Amino acid sequence: MTSKEEIINKIAQDKIDFKTGLKLLLEDEEYNFEGLFTTLKNYIFNAIPNKTDYNSETYQKAINTIPLKPTYTPIVILKNYSTRIAFNKLLTLPKIENKKTITALLWVFKITDTERRNTECKNGCAHFWHQIE
Ligand SMILES: [Zn+2]
Repeated sequence: MTSKEEIINKIAQDKIDFKTGLKLLLEDEEYNFEGLFTTLKNYIFNAIPNKTDYNSETYQKAINTIPLKPTYTPIVILKNYSTRIAFNKLLTLPKIENKKTITALLWVFKITDTERRNTECKNGCAHFWHQIE
């Protein structure tokens, strides 16, 4: 697990405060939007329970509680397009939207991963990143 992945999982598991962790990721000198975006996207798609359309109740709850103004472009896109299309659109937004996109995705992962840990992982799982201290 890279240090970035460790930070992301610690944020999801409330071992690092959301805002503090987000700052760590965005202010990292090796910050790279596409790299971080891909990591978060893979984590989210893995954590969402329904793989046929990804439009589960948990996913809806996650995108409806993102701590950003609902009028921000990345939020509007997430709410108006199906998951895969929305993620493709997020990648093509102007650079000025990148940090909002990372904030939104980090939140969506936190919520969907927490739901998964509380349900299918509840009695133990083989996800090594769920065992971090
Ligand atoms: Zn697990």
